[in-house]
Amino acid sequence: MRLCPCGSGQWSRELLDAAGIYCGRVCDDCEKRKRAEFRSEIFDEGTAYARSGEEEDLLNDNEERNLSFEVVKPPKPAMVPTEVVAAITAARPELLRMGTPRAMDADEVRGMYEAIAMLIQDGFAAQQKAARLETQLARSRDRLDEVMAAIHVANHAASIAKLSFTDEDE
Ligand SMILES: [Zn+2]
Repeated sequence: MRLCPCGSGQWSRELLDAAGIYCGRVCDDCEKRKRAEFRSEIFDEGTAYARSGEEEDLLNDNEERNLSFEVVKPPKPAMVPTEVVAAITAARPELLRMGTPRAMDADEVRGMYEAIAMLIQDGFAAQQKAARLETQLARSRDRLDEVMAAIHVANHAASIAKLSFTDEDE
């Protein structure tokens, strides 16, 4: 029996991974901390790595895991109903107003949600753009007013100069 190197003052034991490879000495106080220093997969029983202890098998196990994860969770397509797609792409809302409503399945409803979310986003973006343009237009108008005022002053000055010039001429 040996005291744990973590300094807890408790008796320690060997921590082995699933392949039986030595990972250090631990006690009840520090075992969780010590395990967290390693990749958690090395402690999983029943894997190829647990049988061989080879790092290569650890990678293979991971690939198998990722693969089975994909198989379990295939991406479900969101189906936007064709009449909705047609109306949106052609920008003709009357196509939907003329259509006869029908029952939709969950995938089609999800597709509708996505389409509506996109339209709301587009509408919001368009509103923001319009607001920006309005601000720019107002600024341009202010600048135009300034220019017009300057021209007015210049014209006035020119006419006075002309007057005094003709005065002298006479
Ligand atoms: Zn300890």
